[in-house]
Amino acid sequence: MIASAHSAAPVSPANDAPVPIPVREVLPWAIFIGLILLIAIYFVGAEQGATSIFSGMYIHEFVHDGRHLLGFPCH
Ligand SMILES: [Zn+2]
Repeated sequence: MIASAHSAAPVSPANDAPVPIPVREVLPWAIFIGLILLIAIYFVGAEQGATSIFSGMYIHEFVHDGRHLLGFPCH
């Protein structure tokens, strides 16, 4: 008789429990991703519009559709 590995292996309830992720490990990534998103929102929403770090209109033109999609006032 051939028993499948799934039923033959002893099942421990601890192995099926979700592994908690400590906040200390997640927090730096949450801050990093939050900063990246804030920078992205700035470039989509305000750069070369209300404010301008870089001269010209390249960034404005590049993110123009996203700016309208997100409802930022443009023109
Ligand atoms: Zn526009």
